[in-house]
Amino acid sequence: MAKINQNYLQLQGSYLFAEVARRRNKFISENPNAQVISLGIGDVTRPLPEAVVKSLHDSVDEMAEANTFRGYGPEQGYEFLINAIIENDYKARGIELKTSEVFVSDGSKCDVGNIQEIFSADSIVAVQDPVYPVYVDTNVMAGRSGAFDKEKNQYSNIVYLTCNKENGFVPELPKSKVDIIYLCYPNNPTGMTLSKEELKKWVDYARSNKCVILYDSAYEAYIQEDDVPRSIYEIEGAKEVAIEFRSFSKTAGFTGTRCAYTVVPKELLAYDEDGNSVPLNDLWNRRQTTKFNGVSYITQKGAAAIYSEQGKAQIASLVDYYMTNAKIIREGVASLGIEVFGGVNAPYIWLKTPNGLGSWEFFDKLLTEANIVGTPGVGFGQAGQGYFRLTAFGSRENTEKAVERLSKLQF
Ligand code: PLP
Repeated sequence: MAKINQNYLQLQGSYLFAEVARRRNKFISENPNAQVISLGIGDVTRPLPEAVVKSLHDSVDEMAEANTFRGYGPEQGYEFLINAIIENDYKARGIELKTSEVFVSDGSKCDVGNIQEIFSADSIVAVQDPVYPVYVDTNVMAGRSGAFDKEKNQYSNIVYLTCNKENGFVPELPKSKVDIIYLCYPNNPTGMTLSKEELKKWVDYARSNKCVILYDSAYEAYIQEDDVPRSIYEIEGAKEVAIEFRSFSKTAGFTGTRCAYTVVPKELLAYDEDGNSVPLNDLWNRRQTTKFNGVSYITQKGAAAIYSEQGKAQIASLVDYYMTNAKIIREGVASLGIEVFGGVNAPYIWLKTPNGLGSWEFFDKLLTEANIVGTPGVGFGQAGQGYFRLTAFGSRENTEKAVERLSKLQF
């Protein structure tokens, strides 16, 4: 008899986006003439940069010729891309990495989801609340979550690090023992960041407590302010305790093209049952070479073009486009007297719902009165109740229209 992985029964339905879609569709069917603007999902809308497109075309042509055709490539990624990543994203900021420390993949979602496999099943996991749901669900699947408490909207064995306006969206260090800490900066969903000094506290904590930090910086390209760290490895000692995830999805419009990378430093150690240290780089390499066959040559060529002079200029203007949207939303919402966070170093704007409205009540008000779809903060965790996320990934036209509609609302 085939038995299921019982842990899957602990998963909560992917309620958030299904419920957003249900309410949106119901509204549209009842109001067929309404022009609904979506500032809800975190997907990009601008096309790939020209330099990337050219490189993709050229590499397709290479694959068409017998003497330049390629079959399986290295599971860890081609050196031309890994070297470009190290030179531009790290060395240029004073961080030295070895080629064997960078693993190219087809997306950060897989990497942040799969990484937990190399840790013990009884590890205690800490996540920020609100949280990118993949961190939680993949640990539920692996049996680390304990039971779900419907009242609390939380799993009993997961440690939740509250991020709200009261603590300036800077989580407190865990009060109980944890082994693995997920940090996401710039943060999805709040759009907030940590200063170097604040991040240093986490690195120091992890070093003192033999924890590993899983540092997701999918939105690094959106950082505008100088004192915001772009990599956790800017902090002394971080290579001993942190894995860093980066993605080309939001940096260069790769959400549909798929390419990302993960850095696992050689110095990073975790421990076996007898307390002996084991390098995590070896384990991740073993995992990837067993279960993953690499990103296509064509895609990696496309990604490498981001690091050409033209590519750099084009992605800078892409980021600038979305960050101008972020500014328009941020200032538009603030001018209504609504408290607004994020949107300065990230493409997400996190607002405090006015008059104590719940996240879903605010969602309904925006949908029915302004025909705008956003994302209720409570869908990212209990600490998101009373907050709401808008994204800057829409077109300029829709962003401006949405802000104009918001300005006519009565709160
Ligand atoms: N990490 C965070 C915090 C994200 O918000 C996303 C995408 O929305 C991802 C990872 C996934 O990125 P990718 O497209 O590389 O799988």
